Amino acid sequence: VYVANKEKACNNVGIINNTVRLPDYIPEHDLLRVIDFYNNDKTVDGILVQLPLPKHINSDKILKAISPEKDVDCFHPSNVANLWLGKEGIKPCTPQGIIDLLDYGNIDLRGKHVVIIGRSNIVGKPLAQMMLKENATVTICHSKTKNLQEITKLADVIVVAVGKRNVLNGDMVKDGAVVVDVGINRNDEGKLCGDCDYDSLVDKCSLITPVPGGVGLLTRVTLLDNVLLAHSLNNMCQ
Ligand code: NAD
Repeated sequence: VYVANKEKACNNVGIINNTVRLPDYIPEHDLLRVIDFYNNDKTVDGILVQLPLPKHINSDKILKAISPEKDVDCFHPSNVANLWLGKEGIKPCTPQGIIDLLDYGNIDLRGKHVVIIGRSNIVGKPLAQMMLKENATVTICHSKTKNLQEITKLADVIVVAVGKRNVLNGDMVKDGAVVVDVGINRNDEGKLCGDCDYDSLVDKCSLITPVPGGVGLLTRVTLLDNVLLAHSLNNMCQ
């Protein structure tokens, strides 16, 4: 689903894209060689390795091998460091999509209490930094958090990025809260759904994002933005 949607998004705006499908038994050194090839290909502006990788491959090593100027997913350690230092540059796609979505909804984050459920490197952690930059007060919750409901009830904005259905329901939020649902799951009928019990939340929240058609869309827009930025970074390097 992710790969097909990214290809479609690129095609819609005229970004030439090439999905390189490799066998899951590929040795790590061969994958590194493929990345090296595209690092050195001047016609390529952005490289994205779709995670998760097979268990025998060290993901950190692979992500570190991508040239930082071509790292359109913002997973290279130097791009992650730039983010935490508050510097301009390539941004992590889903967190930036969430910031843009809230901006589009005229949600002023200054001084707001933002509760993020989930502490992954892809969503929760980078989003916390970006929320701090927006002058929000940030709480990160995770699988070991006690009394989740007591914390979410205090939140002005709740971002749920767990990957399990019904992590958040209407009893867990205060009236008028803003809820951003990042999760992607399948319900009993096999249809895509988020981490939130949407029906119990929709009347209580001032804004809630749907799944599908919410954060995923904005994630892809940031990816396209990052490709444009990478294009200018690569031109500067040449
Ligand atoms: P992850 O598995 O890396 O992290 C999940 C986090 O949830 C962990 O930090 C864990 O501590 C926390 N968690 C687990 N159970 C919990 C519980 N009961 N209560 C509170 N916290 C709990 O996942 P991820 O990569 O961050 O992705 C999360 C979800 O978001 C997945 O469904 C994924 O598919 C989706 N996702 C969507 C997009 C998008 O573009 N829409 C992008 C990235 C991820």
